[in-house]
Amino acid sequence: EDGLVLGIHPSVSELFPPSKLREELGDAPVVVEGMDGDADTDGLDGVVTFTYSEAFLDADLQWIHCVLAGVDAFPLDDLERAGIRLTNSSGVHGDAVGDTVLGYLLQFARRLHVYRDNEPERTWRYPDWHETFTLSGETVCVVGLGTLGQGVTSRAQGVGMDVAGVRRTPTPIPSVDDLYTPDALTEAVADARFVVLTVPLSERTRDLVGADELAAMRDDAYLVNVARGGVVDQDALVDALEAGEIAGAALDVFEEEPLPDDSPLWELENVIVTPHAAGATRDYAGRVAALIRENLTRIRDGDSLANQVV
Ligand code: NDP
Repeated sequence: EDGLVLGIHPSVSELFPPSKLREELGDAPVVVEGMDGDADTDGLDGVVTFTYSEAFLDADLQWIHCVLAGVDAFPLDDLERAGIRLTNSSGVHGDAVGDTVLGYLLQFARRLHVYRDNEPERTWRYPDWHETFTLSGETVCVVGLGTLGQGVTSRAQGVGMDVAGVRRTPTPIPSVDDLYTPDALTEAVADARFVVLTVPLSERTRDLVGADELAAMRDDAYLVNVARGGVVDQDALVDALEAGEIAGAALDVFEEEPLPDDSPLWELENVIVTPHAAGATRDYAGRVAALIRENLTRIRDGDSLANQVV
């Protein structure tokens, strides 16, 4: 029963060294092997991976664990047909992304990014009296209230913000004052100083924020996207930023990654660009290992898997 063999795909090195994960799984009831490439699946029961490869479909796998929370790059129907279970790493990023988003909010409110931008020219410039504000008493609207969303709402509540949230299931959440469903999205964002996107990318959330939603936002509002680039109509966002329809944006994810050199987003002073790193933390491998361990126990006991997507 302990004979499960798990391969670690080289792509996990995008997030942490594969050897770190092997170490973290050292005493788990599983044989862990490194993989040389996509097709190096002989004898493997499961694969832990960052990227998807078609070679997984032809292999004799029963389980794929993705080290990301968002599995929008995986062909769910094909995996289902092949009888391969897919689990994601939702649940591990709440603290890291929550801290990053609080950081963006503080940068905009306290103008920290502006002072940093002024350093190369040795520019000492006190902000105009109206440029700075405090987060306390401002409203944030968080769209998607899972691990990421609640990592944001609990921190926002902690610094005294008013918190609105959007999700399909209107179950109350302690750190959310006003709960909306997706059909009321424009209403939910209308009063917010910050709109934070923390939903999975799906058919329903593709281009969720476009020209209409941006127009519904306040002209002193900031958009934060730590979900997936496809959740925002990026051209409409650039237009809204250039026209001053909103005050700025902090973006960790983009329609194309890495963000191409010629993207106008690099140049806009009121835009903070981060390299899909909102969830980065040295604890990442350990947290993923804990999820894998949990599912090894469940496989042994014949239980359903945690974080199962397919
Ligand atoms: P969860 O599954 O924990 O949460 C997703 C939330 O979105 C749920 O609250 C769900 O609630 C809500 N939701 C789903 N569909 C909609 C919709 N149409 N409108 C409004 N709310 C919706 O996922 P995580 O929080 O772990 O991750 C969310 C996404 O963030 C990932 O899929 C990934 O793409 C991205 N991500 C980005 C990272 C980064 O580094 N930038 C790191 C980790 C994740 P309900 O079902 O009630 O609607």
